[in-house]
Amino acid sequence: KGEAPVEVAAELTGDLARYRGVWVFIEQREGEIVPVSLELLGAGRQLADKLGVELAGVLLGDKVCGLSDRLYEYGADKVYLADHPVLRYYRTETYMKVFVKLVQQYLPEIILMGATTTGRDLAGAVATELSTGLTADCTVLDIDPKQRLLLATRPAFGGNIMATIVCKNHRPQMATVRPKVMKMAKPVPGRRGQLVTWQVDLKEEDLLTRVVEIVKERGEQVNLQEAEIIVAGGRGLGDREGFRKICFGLAEAIGARVGASRAAVEAGWIEQKYQVGQTGVTVAPKIYFALGISGAIQHLVGIRGSDIIIAVNTDPDAPIFKECTYGIVGDVFQVVPALIEPLKEL
Ligand code: FAD
Repeated sequence: KGEAPVEVAAELTGDLARYRGVWVFIEQREGEIVPVSLELLGAGRQLADKLGVELAGVLLGDKVCGLSDRLYEYGADKVYLADHPVLRYYRTETYMKVFVKLVQQYLPEIILMGATTTGRDLAGAVATELSTGLTADCTVLDIDPKQRLLLATRPAFGGNIMATIVCKNHRPQMATVRPKVMKMAKPVPGRRGQLVTWQVDLKEEDLLTRVVEIVKERGEQVNLQEAEIIVAGGRGLGDREGFRKICFGLAEAIGARVGASRAAVEAGWIEQKYQVGQTGVTVAPKIYFALGISGAIQHLVGIRGSDIIIAVNTDPDAPIFKECTYGIVGDVFQVVPALIEPLKEL
């Protein structure tokens, strides 16, 4: 806020100068807001304040109007609502068409979406349709207020560098952000905003895809992103039996979820959905145990949001010791069994 936006407005020319405001796509599943959308409202609020513009949530679905109150409480000044039976389930075609029309009508300068399966799909489709730039999987967002540029930073070249990407000559500027990377803002109960309702003019019979049935995945829900404590194991656990004994043993004793490095996944000791890191999930638990994990950069980018990292490794020079809160130089097969009994009693 202040003088910067006025100065900036003079720098942008032509069509670009007409774009104003920060938008967050509010992903919902069966009427439940997906947490990353609230995290992005927190991040979007900061960007909007730096630019001196409004923050809006874009809510698409069927009978989802009731969700808008929560969005104001989490920082939105405005909610664009498209509420229609054709939007009940996510479909690229329907969501993209409605989203693009909203953009063409209201001209936001920045659009953020969660890097979820849905967000990644929709962001790509919307960016393509609008012929604009999209930076995927960002971990840091900032603003160059003078040029009104979104500075979208993400790991590149296998996580060896952090690249900041800008979209200079097109609007809107789009980014997807991994869940759990941004902190959710504290809700302000009773905070209110403006609801803008959008009339959807799509007909089910004109659409190319139809949802026939929703089949929910059976079995254990891994959901590492929501876990408060994670016990993760790496190649240092030796084999599948060692991994099971140490990781699951400690996790069961303290009520934690199990995670793994890519080396453990590639060795076939555990399924890929448990993998933490650049090509796995990003986590932000209160406590993260890294057992027999060296601390490669591709693993570290997935765990940096953890409050406390406890590492056990035989090699005192392992990179994980530079990142952890508490480090134990030792053999997991001696250290972990010695920890389990006292931890059980806590
Ligand atoms: P290692 O690096 O082999 O480390 C094993 C550690 O165990 C060593 O530090 C050793 O000292 C210690 N150790 C051995 N025995 C014991 C013992 N008895 N007690 C205690 N410690 C012991 N990796 C990921 O994890 N997640 C990703 O998402 C990911 N994505 C990648 C994407 C790309 C593009 C690339 C190129 C790589 C990616 N990797 C990823 C792989 C990553 O570079 C590392 O190879 C991997 O993280 C190593 O796993 P690790 O730490 O289990 O194994």
